[in-house]
Amino acid sequence: MRPLLAGMTQAEIEELLSSWGEPRYRARQVWEWIHRHLASDWEEMTNLPRQLRERFAAETELYSLAVVERRAASDGTTKYLFRLQDGETVESVWIPAGNRGTVCVSTQVGCALGCRFCATALSGLRRNLRAAEIVDQVRWISHDLRRRASNVVFMGMGEPLANFVETRKALAILHEPTGLNIGWRHITISTSGLVPAIRRLAAEGLPLTLAVSLHAADNKTRTWLMPINRHYPLEELLPACREWVERVGRRVTFEYVLIDGVNDSISDARRLSRLISGMLAHVNLIPLNPIPEIGWRASSPAKQQAFARVLEDSGIPVTLRQERGAEIEAACGQLRRRRLLEVTAVEV
Ligand code: SAH
Ligand code: SF4
Repeated sequence: MRPLLAGMTQAEIEELLSSWGEPRYRARQVWEWIHRHLASDWEEMTNLPRQLRERFAAETELYSLAVVERRAASDGTTKYLFRLQDGETVESVWIPAGNRGTVCVSTQVGCALGCRFCATALSGLRRNLRAAEIVDQVRWISHDLRRRASNVVFMGMGEPLANFVETRKALAILHEPTGLNIGWRHITISTSGLVPAIRRLAAEGLPLTLAVSLHAADNKTRTWLMPINRHYPLEELLPACREWVERVGRRVTFEYVLIDGVNDSISDARRLSRLISGMLAHVNLIPLNPIPEIGWRASSPAKQQAFARVLEDSGIPVTLRQERGAEIEAACGQLRRRRLLEVTAVEV
């Protein structure tokens, strides 16, 4: 496979240039065309000699993906379905808010972890994404919309911490000030709670936001909803989160999807507030985005409010996520799944 440029550090581009007998200082120019100017064609890079541009065009890939489908909701939320070079597909979402813009990226094709409420889980894990394929979701969308991303959230398809090395490399590239320049505080990693990887991230001390998908405050319900809880139950997960808070000095976000009749009772809320009381934490309540094959519904607005109030009354900061982009199937994995079903239907 030809090298994917968006996943190479400046030092790696220097190495490539020097193996071609080209001056190393060109790496900085190439890097800026890729990550600062979001170039989509070697023709644009007029400060590079023509021969060098031709060699890059012949021997490397400027983009590791191409768009298959784009759907915009009335609030500006825009969902992209991308095709990778091996034909696999992944989704990303652009979420505008005033002059900020967030890209939600995927880190794997599918996911191995099998959470019961998640559309991505239905296809199992196909493969990990390369760093370039993660970075290119941000580059493509920013180029397409002519808008810089101010924030990146790792909340698309897949478990970012199960693809630690490529995710870590993508983080470094996205953060690089001479490129996309996304500040650590503007990056969120969402994890289903892989304890060793949370500790590894804590040891690095990057001041990004860690979001942990909790979804239940007792092991029985959590194991049923999220089988990974069998490996990393709450009594191991919570101490790892505390360690992250201590090392990084930032509060952790707990995500909690509210599913009608499953995890949304007042006693569930009380159990949650006991579990995390005293922690530097924030709870993000997310009404379930219903997946047709699964059949569960979101909790009613009244139940959502009541759940939030129990947490507030115990002094726990809580936000109730606004549902955005439902009309464009913005829940993780939904658009890809529909496309796959359509393609299968045509083939049958
Ligand atoms: N694998 C990581 C990140 C990707 S999922 C994780 O699980 O955290 C991002 C978030 O979307 C998680 O909090 C996940 O629980 C949530 N999610 C998955 N399916 C959902 C659905 N149908 N409705 C609402 N949120 C969902
Ligand atoms: Fe994987 Fe996250 Fe979906 Fe669970 S919720 S199956 S961890 S992508």
